[in-house]
Amino acid sequence: MRTALLSGGVGGARLARGLAALPEVDLSVIVNVGDDAEIYGLYVSPDLDTVVYTLAGAQGPQGWGVAEDTLTVMGWLAGFPIDTDFAIGDRDLATNLFRTERLSRGWGLAMVTEAIASGLGVATQVLPASEQKVRTQVKLADGGWIGFQEYFVTRGHRDEIEDVRFAGADQADAGPGVIEAIEAADILVIGPSNPPLSIWPVLAIPDVARAVGAHGRTVGVSPLIGGKALKGPADRVLRSLGFAEGNLGVVEAYGELLHDFFIDPIDASDELPGVKVHVTDLDLQTQEAATRFARQMLEAL
Ligand code: GDP
Ligand code: CA
Repeated sequence: MRTALLSGGVGGARLARGLAALPEVDLSVIVNVGDDAEIYGLYVSPDLDTVVYTLAGAQGPQGWGVAEDTLTVMGWLAGFPIDTDFAIGDRDLATNLFRTERLSRGWGLAMVTEAIASGLGVATQVLPASEQKVRTQVKLADGGWIGFQEYFVTRGHRDEIEDVRFAGADQADAGPGVIEAIEAADILVIGPSNPPLSIWPVLAIPDVARAVGAHGRTVGVSPLIGGKALKGPADRVLRSLGFAEGNLGVVEAYGELLHDFFIDPIDASDELPGVKVHVTDLDLQTQEAATRFARQMLEAL
């Protein structure tokens, strides 16, 4: 069964590894690039790397970065007059060096990602949503716009945000293979990622929005359990952007896109008009749990 998954970082990556474990599934993961940034002169793609590392079983303990990584380079760097708030582990740094070097030779981001995935033994197709610059920016209560990494990493996503925008998205084309993967998919899944910060920047790319809107079977998986994000600010961001609390806010954030929606048993009493609701354990933190969920999801559809 051909399955396309729209993903941010940790939440989407965890579902990806569940789906990838099912032999009957031919998976393409379409990944947010709105968090990409230039840091220490390197081209950093946090969500692409989280997805690839997770599919390789090499993700760090919080779900991002690389397992058993060390911070030797960061420690040395901190002795120089440079802001080291954005810590990149040594192994992770190697990925970013490779990507930056290849991009500077004219490779596209999709080709670089394919090389990183295959270097880590990942056979699943992992596709950047776009190869052009799309940059998520958030508007703080004091009225100023800041870049995603400053909001998320430097300021620890503590600020209330008033608005969000995706600079460059309206001029960006879908990355190589993205539209084909969506059109060929029997099921299009919107992963349990932060809707405004991880999925909207994918949907802000006009070709992607058109292909997703035309798909007849779009399935959402909630990033909330008991109304709360397992990590990060998804629940707070939805509320501060004016959406309802809990799963209703997630459904609202996707407008009319979703046909089916998976929620956790703890939220089984949520009333969610306009979607077919399925209730299944949504804790995807281990490979086993994610694979079990993926199997149950396909059986329920
Ligand atoms: P990131 O912030 O770039 O890592 O990316 P995402 O937006 O993909 O991931 C954050 C979201 O993933 C949060 O809202 C979490 O609640 C959600 N998430 C993380 N792990 C799980 C899980 O095991 N199950 C579910 N349902 N959601 C998860
Ligand atoms: Ca991210």
